[in-house]
Amino acid sequence: MSKITRREFALLAAGAGAVASHLEFARPAYAAGSARVVIIGGGPGGAAVANRLKSADAALDVTLIEPKDKYTTCFYSNLYLGGFRSFRSITHDYEGVKKRGITVVTDTATAVDTTAKTVTLARGSSPLSFDRLVVAPGIDLKFETIEGYSPDAAKIMPHAWQGGEQTWLLKEKLLALPDGGLIVMASPPNPYRCPPGPYERACMIGHFIKTRKPKAKLIIFDAKRTFSKEAVFEQAFNEYYRDIIELNLTNEIDDYTVVKVNAATGEVTTKSGRTERAALANIIPAQKAGSIAAKMGLTEGDWCPVNPDNFTSTKVKDVYVLGDAAIANPMPKSAYSAMSQANVVAADIIADLSGKPRPPGKYRNTCWSMLAPDNSAKIGGDYFPGKKDGKEILEAKDEFISKPDDSPDIRRQTYQESADWYRTAVADLFGEEPQKAGH
Ligand SMILES: Cc1cc2nc3c(=O)[nH]c(=O)nc-3n(C[C@H](O)[C@H](O)[C@H](O)COP(=O)(O)OP(=O)(O)OC[C@H]3O[C@@H](n4cnc5c(N)ncnc54)[C@H](O)[C@@H]3O)c2cc1C
Repeated sequence: MSKITRREFALLAAGAGAVASHLEFARPAYAAGSARVVIIGGGPGGAAVANRLKSADAALDVTLIEPKDKYTTCFYSNLYLGGFRSFRSITHDYEGVKKRGITVVTDTATAVDTTAKTVTLARGSSPLSFDRLVVAPGIDLKFETIEGYSPDAAKIMPHAWQGGEQTWLLKEKLLALPDGGLIVMASPPNPYRCPPGPYERACMIGHFIKTRKPKAKLIIFDAKRTFSKEAVFEQAFNEYYRDIIELNLTNEIDDYTVVKVNAATGEVTTKSGRTERAALANIIPAQKAGSIAAKMGLTEGDWCPVNPDNFTSTKVKDVYVLGDAAIANPMPKSAYSAMSQANVVAADIIADLSGKPRPPGKYRNTCWSMLAPDNSAKIGGDYFPGKKDGKEILEAKDEFISKPDDSPDIRRQTYQESADWYRTAVADLFGEEPQKAGH
C-alpha cells in the first residue's frame, strides 16, 4: 500500500477525502496549454476545483471568476459573533490562489453562451472562452418570501447568511445592542445553506449575551419542525442558555414561520400572527441557487439538478454545477461537501479531457458546530451515487453524530478537530500558510 503524503493528508482532512478519484487523477493526454477551464464562483466549491485542477496539471489554463477580492467564510462566522474569532481570521484573499498559477478575474459572470463556449463578464471587455465550465455560485436569498424584507431591509435586519459585509453588520449590531434588548432570529425553511448553522448561531449569540449583555434575550422563530443535531443543540440550550434562548419550532396549530418584518419598527411577525418588536432582528430567509444558475437554465425550481456521478448539469450539456447551488440531497449544503464534490469534478474534467474512463465519484461531509467554549458537536458521513426513494445520492451506513451525553473530553476534542479542519481547509482553498487556531 503506498504511503500517503503530507499534502494528501491535508486534503483528506479538508474534506477532499474519501475520494479515491482525487488520489488517482488520470495523467493528462491533451496537448499542454491547449485546454481552458473557467470556473464561476470563488467559494469553497469553485476555489477547490481550481486548485485541484492546477495541482493535477500545471499546464492547464484555469480561470476563476469571483467579484469579491476577499472572501469571508460563513463557516466559522458564528464563532466571530460569539467572540471566539476575529473578522480578519475568517477573511481570505486570492493572492495564494494566483501564486498557484490560476488566473483570478475579479468580476461577475453575467451570461454564458454554451454553444460558443464563452462567459460574458460585467466589466470585462471581451468574453472569456472555455473548453469546460464549472458553475459554483453559492446561494441567493429569496427576500420576496418575507413581506417587508429586501436587500435594503437587510442592512437593518441582517441575514448574515452570505459572508462579508452582512457578517460584519450583524456583529456590529450585537455590540450596539442595549443590555436587556430582544434579539429575534428567523430560521429558514429547508433546503438551505448549513443545516446546523442557525442553531450554532443561537449558541454563539447565547454566549455573547451571557458574557456581554446578560439581560438580553434571543427568540428563534423556526420554519421547521425538526433540525440537524437537534438533541445536542437542545441539550446545549438547556445547559448553557436556559433563560436566554427561546426556541419556537413550527407545527400545524401554531406556525412560527416568519412572514412579515418591518425594518423601521423592528417588528417581526409569524404566520400565526405573533409579533415581537426586536432591538435586533437576524432574518434568514429561504434560499435558492446563485442567480447566474437560473439565468443559464441550470435550475429546476430553485436549485440545479446534477448527475450524481460527477456533478455535470442534467439541464445544460458540458457544464458542471457544485456546492450549495447543486441538488445533492442528502448531502447537506456545506463547505466540506462543496470541497468533496470539487475533487470529483476536477478528476472528471481531467479524465474527460484526457479521454480516460470517468469513474463515479464518492463524497464525504462533516459539519461541526460550536455549542460553548471548548465544546463542539459534529455530524457527518460518506455518500455515493445510487437510486433510492427518489434520491440519487445515498448515504453510506457509517454516518456519525455527536450525542447529548458525550463527555467534556470528547466535546473538547471535537472542538479541536473543527479548528484543525478550518485551518487546513482555508490553507488548501486560499493557499495561505496554516495559522494557529485562533486569531
Ligand atoms: C452561519 C454559517 C455557518 C456555516 N458553517 C459551516 C461549517 O461549519 N462547515 C461547513 O462545511 N459549512 C458551513 N457553512 C456553509 C458554507 O459556508 C457553504 O456551504 C459554502 O460556502 C458553499 O460553498 P459554495 O462555493 O457553493 O458557495 P459560496 O461560498 O457562496 O461561494 C460562491 C461564490 O460565487 C460567487 N458568485 C456568485 N455569483 C457569481 C457570478 N455570477 N460570477 C462570479 N462569481 C459569482 C460569490 O461571490 C461567492 O463568493 C456555513 C454557512 C453559514 C451561513
